[in-house]
Amino acid sequence: MATCIFCKIAKNEIPSEAIFEDNDVKVFKDIKPSAPVHFLVIPKQHIQSIAHLEANHNEIISKLIYTAKAVAKDSGLTGYKLVFNVGREGGQVIDHLHLHLLGGWAKKI
Ligand code: AMP
Ligand code: ZN
Repeated sequence: MATCIFCKIAKNEIPSEAIFEDNDVKVFKDIKPSAPVHFLVIPKQHIQSIAHLEANHNEIISKLIYTAKAVAKDSGLTGYKLVFNVGREGGQVIDHLHLHLLGGWAKKI
């Protein structure tokens, strides 16, 4: 979506501190981290939220989770939280699906 900030990050129209990307997903550092390690895992395609998922999104949702797992391992995290905020009442501020990867508490960064 043209006005969506995470679509713009996916297309490099807005800078981000990217950790990983391929054709389908991108991982970048959260600009206002809530944990010593706080990454966001997004699909490059615009999906508004978990509440807007449809059956044809099965593959990309699975990929978000496996990407988070791989990035966590590469970052040396042995434990972490994966969080989807859904809708305003669920704390979602940006209406482009994103998986929060939070960890690093044991590292004392
Ligand atoms: P949510 O509340 O689940 O919608 O989370 C949105 C997250 O995006 C927040 O943790 C913000 O700090 C983060 N955020 C907002 N703008 C940017 C940006 N330009 N680059 C990286 N993270 C961002
Ligand atoms: Zn978007």
